[in-house]
Amino acid sequence: MRLLLVEDDAMIGEAVQGALSDSGYAVDWVTDGLTALATLRTQHYDLILLDLGLPGKDGLSVLASLRASGHEAPLLILTARDSLDDRLRGLDGGADDYVLKPFHMAELLARLRAVLRRRSGSAQPLLGTRAVSLDPVSKCASSSEASEVQLSNREFALLQALLIRPGAILSRSELEDRIYAWGNEVESNAVEFLIHSLRRKLGSQVIKNVRGMGWMVSKDA
Ligand code: CA
Repeated sequence: MRLLLVEDDAMIGEAVQGALSDSGYAVDWVTDGLTALATLRTQHYDLILLDLGLPGKDGLSVLASLRASGHEAPLLILTARDSLDDRLRGLDGGADDYVLKPFHMAELLARLRAVLRRRSGSAQPLLGTRAVSLDPVSKCASSSEASEVQLSNREFALLQALLIRPGAILSRSELEDRIYAWGNEVESNAVEFLIHSLRRKLGSQVIKNVRGMGWMVSKDA
């Protein structure tokens, strides 16, 4: 899952990027509002983490521009501003939730998962189908052939990308896009390698190959 972090504080930015990367998310980090808007025009993100106090264009203006242009990615505000008015303007302006600084990484991660769950229309903490399920907290997966198998960060990211919309086919470049952030080195056969190791752990039928198009996890019939 690919996230955009918009945060001008270097210490917070590094800490958040590090913690989210350790949890299996691909995180791109920008430090001002205009760069954030430019980046969002060209790159798909599954979720945006947006600081409010930013140089140039502040967070609430970034949010307003995004939503006005029809951009619908889930968005979580990170704010040191404890004014009720800012929080309400953020939520009413189209943010999904906010986290008050200073926050614990565990809380940020839990809120992020909650936002993604709500957006996917499910209150269930597990992602999955009848054939395969994934726990975003422990990064363990289960299938008819294996239970509670621990996945690596990249295996987790790949399976998560496929399980967000069972039945949808993702190409190699779409999968790479969701698994790797800027600056990550991507080996040419990395996606095939991850799929091979997921099949070894969970059974060969869990991820289907759609010839010439990509891969998918089947929808429940
Ligand atoms: Ca700031």
